[in-house]
Amino acid sequence: MPDKIDHLLEDVETFPPSAEFVAASPVPADLYERAEADRLGFWADQARELHWHTPFTETLDWSGAPIARWFGDGELNVAYNCVDRHVAAGNGDRIAIHWEGEPGDTRTITYADLLGEVKRAANMLESLGVTAGDVVAIYLPMIPETVIAMLACARIGAVHSVIFGGFSADSIRQRVEDASAKLVITSDGSIRKGKVLALKNTVDEALSKGAASVKHVLVVKRADNEVALQKGRDLWWHDEIAQVSDEHVAKPFPSEHPLFILYTSGTTGKPKGLLHTSGGYLTQTAYTHRVAFDLRPEEDVFWCSADVGWVTGHSYLVYGPLANGATQVMYEGTPDTPDLGRWFKIIQDYKVTIFYTAPTAIRSYMKAGRQIPAKYDLSSLRVLGSVGEPINPEAWLWYREVIGGGRTPIVDTWWQTETGAHMIAPIPSQVALKPGAAQRPIPGIVVEVVDDDGNRVDPGQMGLLTICEPWPSMARGIYGDPERFADTYWSRFPGVYFAGDGAGVDRDGELWLLGRVDDVMNVSGHRLSTTEIESSLVDHEFVAEAAVVGAKDETTGQAVVAFVVLKRSKSEEAAAVDTPQVLRRHVADDIGAFARPREVYLVDELPKTRSGKIMRRLLRDAADGKQIGDTATLTDASVMATIQAGMTSGA
Ligand code: ATP
Ligand code: MG
Repeated sequence: MPDKIDHLLEDVETFPPSAEFVAASPVPADLYERAEADRLGFWADQARELHWHTPFTETLDWSGAPIARWFGDGELNVAYNCVDRHVAAGNGDRIAIHWEGEPGDTRTITYADLLGEVKRAANMLESLGVTAGDVVAIYLPMIPETVIAMLACARIGAVHSVIFGGFSADSIRQRVEDASAKLVITSDGSIRKGKVLALKNTVDEALSKGAASVKHVLVVKRADNEVALQKGRDLWWHDEIAQVSDEHVAKPFPSEHPLFILYTSGTTGKPKGLLHTSGGYLTQTAYTHRVAFDLRPEEDVFWCSADVGWVTGHSYLVYGPLANGATQVMYEGTPDTPDLGRWFKIIQDYKVTIFYTAPTAIRSYMKAGRQIPAKYDLSSLRVLGSVGEPINPEAWLWYREVIGGGRTPIVDTWWQTETGAHMIAPIPSQVALKPGAAQRPIPGIVVEVVDDDGNRVDPGQMGLLTICEPWPSMARGIYGDPERFADTYWSRFPGVYFAGDGAGVDRDGELWLLGRVDDVMNVSGHRLSTTEIESSLVDHEFVAEAAVVGAKDETTGQAVVAFVVLKRSKSEEAAAVDTPQVLRRHVADDIGAFARPREVYLVDELPKTRSGKIMRRLLRDAADGKQIGDTATLTDASVMATIQAGMTSGA
């Protein structure tokens, strides 16, 4: 019955690593044992993989909980760790970034090139009066200058606040004011689907209504778009950087020096600006990037498709890969320009070996069909990763078979803006993988799934995910609002971090993420997981993507309502039958009659955040016939209008 997740107690097919994969893995075989034997010593060892100007003697100070101090008496420079030390080690010729613009223009940037650029950018920021502790807002597209600007801030101890390039003037103003940013770095435009988005105009609009802290706006030329420069305030990046020296010495900063502020995706409500600091954050991003992706920096070509405006872009496009001296791809544009084969062409052209993306992308390729990836040579791939939402088992299997040629491990990584880096993810050389599960905390992390009273749940029960011990890359609070941090994450169970996500443990003791606690449905007094019912729907051959919500219901309290996107290749078959009825029955057969959706709506698209996550709270409003809530972080507001029109017409 509900509250119980039956499939957690059933047999599932697992995918152990091949003997070759295990033999070639650079990840130490005793990682789990070492972390278990001496957790803090283990983290200190990971931290010592970095370059410390002043070595630390203290690993963790938790006396100021919930604000941790990690490696507190050590000093380092984050940018030095991401760039200088690789050049000093003789790897200056290694490619750091293969950049590809949406129109097809490219730039190849070695670590030596990157070092020169970061030093000059650091000098430029200093020449504009930016000093350690100042906040710099970055509103840029996916271009190399974005990475250079972030590293230049880190190098001089300034705090960056990257604002995703799709946000409106109001969102920018709020974020600039929230942190009293002194400088905004933007560009003349961003190229998306062949069109130019005038980023600088949006910044002008944002600054016209407040944001008095801003002294200068630096403008990178990218799109050859005309912009108006306000005298005394606005400057071209290329003019300023041409005037400064390319010598710059990286000074050490304390381990707890702030590195950046970043807002969450806003899936459940108003975004929170989380503060991250230096030593612990860099330790855990570098370590997880090595072990979760089985990284071999000399050989691999890594590609994380996330936008740098989200935490995934911060941790696995900037800090993790660069701290590890990896070679990576950075792509400016959309996956469907000029056509849906673009990403696969990039994998083929750069011989990408490790690819990290989100379930939303995988499901959109499932919707479009496997004939698209089939046109490309994807044989260079050896590890695939997933992040952002639960990956339905069917999507996991599709990803492995169609993109990974039936050969690559799929590493599902659970983490949050708040956690800074991976928390739950299987190490692919050491764990037999289970489709749809993130499985185990990474070595060094301690989690527990508990009931409402904080007691550990039995296998097969749905519970709440908590993190029991502090970890190096944990946020050091919500910027400017310490109480909200303590209330939101640390008050439900004293001394323990409450992630806001539901989870279950299977009969092997492994973890499954079951969706957000806010989205859990309560039907006739029983709690049902959104993820479980959505995965059952996606398991049907017609379905590419599904979202379920609990709508108000007079008899059962809440009832399951499903919104379903069909695969294109199945549209004729689906049209020939009563598909909603077929899907309702499918869920009832698969999970049980209690989970049968009251309604199934067929829709063309689901409402998503700009980071690609399904916004169930809006669908819940629609299902309840209520006014739709805050849509500020929605990609396309018209999606909800279309869905609502379809619902009233009975489609
Ligand atoms: P907000 O906190 O503003 O509602 P958000 O939670 O979407 O936004 P992020 O920090 O980008 O902001 O996302 C973290 C959340 O994403 C997690 O709490 C979880 O719900 C979901 N998530 C991320 N990775 C996974 C994964 N591998 N499996 C399941 N869920 C995941
Ligand atoms: Mg969240």
